[in-house]
Amino acid sequence: MSNPTPTGKFEVRILDMGQGDCNLIRCPSGEIVMIDCGTTRKGGDGIGVEGFKVRKFLGKRGVVDFLILTHADSDHYSRVRAALKGRRIEQVLHSDAIRSYSRARTSEWLFNEDISCERVLVNRREPGSREVTSGTFADGVAWSVDILASDKFDEEEIKPKVGAKPTQQPTIATKDRNACSIVTLLSIEGGDSVLFCGDATAETERFLRGESKRIGGLHTLLAPHHGSDSSSSKDFVKVTAPKRLIVSAGRTNSYCLPRLSVIKRYTTLNQVAPHVVLGYVPRDKQGVSKKARAQFEFADNFVSDRDIRMTAVDGDISFEIGPPA
Ligand SMILES: [Zn+2]
Repeated sequence: MSNPTPTGKFEVRILDMGQGDCNLIRCPSGEIVMIDCGTTRKGGDGIGVEGFKVRKFLGKRGVVDFLILTHADSDHYSRVRAALKGRRIEQVLHSDAIRSYSRARTSEWLFNEDISCERVLVNRREPGSREVTSGTFADGVAWSVDILASDKFDEEEIKPKVGAKPTQQPTIATKDRNACSIVTLLSIEGGDSVLFCGDATAETERFLRGESKRIGGLHTLLAPHHGSDSSSSKDFVKVTAPKRLIVSAGRTNSYCLPRLSVIKRYTTLNQVAPHVVLGYVPRDKQGVSKKARAQFEFADNFVSDRDIRMTAVDGDISFEIGPPA
């Protein structure tokens, strides 16, 4: 295999996109899996500072092996075209119809570039998964990256009519888009796992309970839907029991994310972060409550102990994981 990572481990980087998402994974094989690249920032269709960070991460490697577009909301894909300009993309895995990715002329770019695009279906009525890529570490321990959930529709419901062009693929109604987010699991045999949830909702999480053996006791969970209240159901928090939680959310987002109630679910049900230290006061439509301030204003006193992290506070978050020692 070409270009293995120097350490032979997974290298994971959660980029600070403001309100948005971009997750980069360098597999032990050297393959690149990129999950989303979008922001609500002004000029969010251009390359922006984040696009240059993507390029820096890719370095001399001209290829992105797998681009996963979790769903067709622009805060998840607005920068992808500019960031990947001039790079080859081997395969795009997406949930909604390609034509739904219309901002920044992303769909035109994907149609024109002769890229292999696959609309992923993991039928939520039964547990199931689709492998993205897999391999083994130098010591023989197996690893894999899999999609656990995506479209909730059956193939019959969303397949194009006979003779229809790709541009005529049926699209998912906006209200269902988040529930159809692609959920990606990075897992190591007998070791750690990381779950990337996009904007998955409690509905998606109900499906994922069928995968409880694979998503239990996570090394790291990227909180679904930026810590929104419509995700991170109690059952999901209990089942995933993450050692570390990462929330990708913008400091001044008008959605007031993450919700304090959601963070509390992780700290009380699961005992992630015995002391919650974010140094970040989530905005509240009614202003910030005193209670919220008390919870969050620990500033950076416990930096080294933190196991809840947030892109709004920490900026880009990077870590490596490898086979069990
Ligand atoms: Zn989002």
